Amino acid sequence: MREYPRLNKVAMNNIEELIPCNECHAGVLRPRHVTYFTWLGGELITVPHFPAWLCDVCGRCEYDERAIQWLNTLLDPNAGKPTNSNRRTPPRPRPQSGARPPMPES
Ligand SMILES: [Zn+2]
Repeated sequence: MREYPRLNKVAMNNIEELIPCNECHAGVLRPRHVTYFTWLGGELITVPHFPAWLCDVCGRCEYDERAIQWLNTLLDPNAGKPTNSNRRTPPRPRPQSGARPPMPES
């Protein structure tokens, strides 16, 4: 019977996910809220407080992809209808278990 020493280390994994800027390659994109503009049937639609990513160096703005998809679903009159794009997420491969070598009995 062996006692393992207690580790007082705390895993610091809550580091913000920083996306490097594709424009200047120097800055990082930081989450911000901007006003999003889009055209819908000849009508300009503005969406305030839209989640976006802004570069802290060159000011490049990238709108949040999921938010845009959500917005398109809201604005699209054909939302809910099946489209041609049948994007399916492939099932994750399961880690194989078993196949353990037999334990020698003593
Ligand atoms: Zn940049």
